[in-house]
Amino acid sequence: MQYCEMSKEELLKLKEELDERYKEAQSKGLSLNMSRGKPSATQLNVTMDMLDTINSSSDMKSEDGTDCRNYGVLDGIPEAKKLMADIMGTTPEHVIIYGNASLNIMYDQVSRAYTHGLLGNTPWCKLDKVKFLCPVPGYDRHFAITEHFGIEMINIPMSENGPDMDMIEKYVNNDESVKGIWCVPKYSNPQGYTYSDETVKRFAALKPAAKDFRIFWDNAYVIHHLYEDKQDEILDIISECEKAGNPDMVFEFASTSKVSFPGSGMAALASSEANVADIKKQLTIQTIGHDKINQLRHVRYFKNLEGVKAHMMKHAAQMRPKFEATLKVLKEELTGLGIGTWSEPRGGYFISFDAMEGCAKAIVAKCKDAGVVLTNAGATFPYGKDPKDSNIRIAPSFPTPEEMELASDIFVLCVKIVSIEKILE
Ligand code: PLP
Repeated sequence: MQYCEMSKEELLKLKEELDERYKEAQSKGLSLNMSRGKPSATQLNVTMDMLDTINSSSDMKSEDGTDCRNYGVLDGIPEAKKLMADIMGTTPEHVIIYGNASLNIMYDQVSRAYTHGLLGNTPWCKLDKVKFLCPVPGYDRHFAITEHFGIEMINIPMSENGPDMDMIEKYVNNDESVKGIWCVPKYSNPQGYTYSDETVKRFAALKPAAKDFRIFWDNAYVIHHLYEDKQDEILDIISECEKAGNPDMVFEFASTSKVSFPGSGMAALASSEANVADIKKQLTIQTIGHDKINQLRHVRYFKNLEGVKAHMMKHAAQMRPKFEATLKVLKEELTGLGIGTWSEPRGGYFISFDAMEGCAKAIVAKCKDAGVVLTNAGATFPYGKDPKDSNIRIAPSFPTPEEMELASDIFVLCVKIVSIEKILE
């Protein structure tokens, strides 16, 4: 029965039982963490043999004869550009290989636009107002970058097909101060949603009031499936933008952080030839070149897209039981109670939970008091402010499946108690 249909007496009686169970859970002195969106050590072991691909007797030349031990090659060795292009679903001439992390590239892109402008447009620092659209819930580190540059952020609600395109068209096509939008188009962080073909096509067909409006297309989870047989697909935004006559409108980002090693992977940007040329003019001031030995290591290990896909299934085998353990508890314990909804992703790193309005902070705090750490409530929104205080991001990747089940049991207990308190307020 839905909690809101229960009488006050029924709710108080139920709360008594739940409080008792909560006290029991507290007395166990647990220490569980559902907040870390990173692979477990066991998962990292899956890639350890990559470290054997390059050693002191390796041929250190890339396909085109470049000695990867030395300076040079601003945009990456050809085979690395091809691999990252294949991962993103584009072609190598669109790609620049950077260093070890895509977040760094995103920061640089905003920074370049801010200090020097894009393709000859006025630097954003010289404008009175710069705004970014932020599909919510979203990735806190995106919001941190735009906040850092004093860019005003506007929330755009998400649905299973992607962000609200009516709202985006209205803002982008009419307001010249709207210069960008943060997108995680596939297996989004935190909901695990993938933008539909219609959404991607509507993005490509935008008619921005600002000439230097850019879509920041963070394809962080493009190949991060949880299942072999149930996989989301996404259109290639770069060719869609070309077809729609907007070739320069998108910067796409990806990395092998959660393919090989987070912090020691290979990161890339993809964009139009004009944007790539514009970026390289600045990049050559910033660096002589990135880590080509790491590029070589990755290409020699994975060989090609098929190799990467096969490797991702090894990750999926480790991740799937953790997601399934969590979703099982949510389903068994919360279905039909009217106190929460959650996403059931086919990929990515997170499950998104929406509690009753005004409950998220209290649930996170109550979990913490029982030894279960969750991501701070509000973190999935710009400025850390969830207007409904409802969204909670669950990260199942780091603990074991057994720990996730235990942590989820405590989570649902806290959801129930806090919801009853809210209804009785
Ligand atoms: N983009 C999204 C959406 C993420 O969730 C993450 C990590 O959690 C990153 C980027 C970080 O990527 P990188 O390690 O390449 O900086």
